[in-house]
Amino acid sequence: MKLFKFAQSRSLWMMHFCTGCGAVELPPTMTSRFDMERFGIMPMATPRQSDLLLITGYLTVKTLKRVVRAYEQMPTPRYVIGFGSCTINGGMYWDSYNVIKKLELYIPVDLYINGCMPRPEAIIDAFLKLREMIAKGEANAWKKYIENYEWYKKNQAELFDVEKWSVKK
Ligand code: SF4
Repeated sequence: MKLFKFAQSRSLWMMHFCTGCGAVELPPTMTSRFDMERFGIMPMATPRQSDLLLITGYLTVKTLKRVVRAYEQMPTPRYVIGFGSCTINGGMYWDSYNVIKKLELYIPVDLYINGCMPRPEAIIDAFLKLREMIAKGEANAWKKYIENYEWYKKNQAELFDVEKWSVKK
């Protein structure tokens, strides 16, 4: 089991959901200068083949719907990294009517990378931390989604409430 977890931590397929401006830091993270592949992390285009979901910044209500759909398609165990202050507290969009303030209310998050925008060094640092957590069996946020499914669904439903967003006549 220990060996299995170690192997799992060294072979991660990452789907990056480029929602915010912080996504601009991903190309250098992926390419030769910082080269995330040396840590066994490769980009993947579809959620069904991904282990790791990277949310790279602010999320509008409309985008969050797609994120939830992508997250639910990922096989378990699945991991989420919230990238940038916007995923933690709304960042510079903290008072926007249409941007969510806390990603963890809607899907479970294993790690956050704070900053606006975080540099590739911080991203690599988070990847290494996640690898360590997986190898130790500590990256279990995905279980929360199963155990507290109704709570997450309630939060999502409140946000996606069509009535709330419709123009009152
Ligand atoms: S944290 Fe900063 S860089 Fe990232 S999406 Fe928000 S405003 Fe953009």
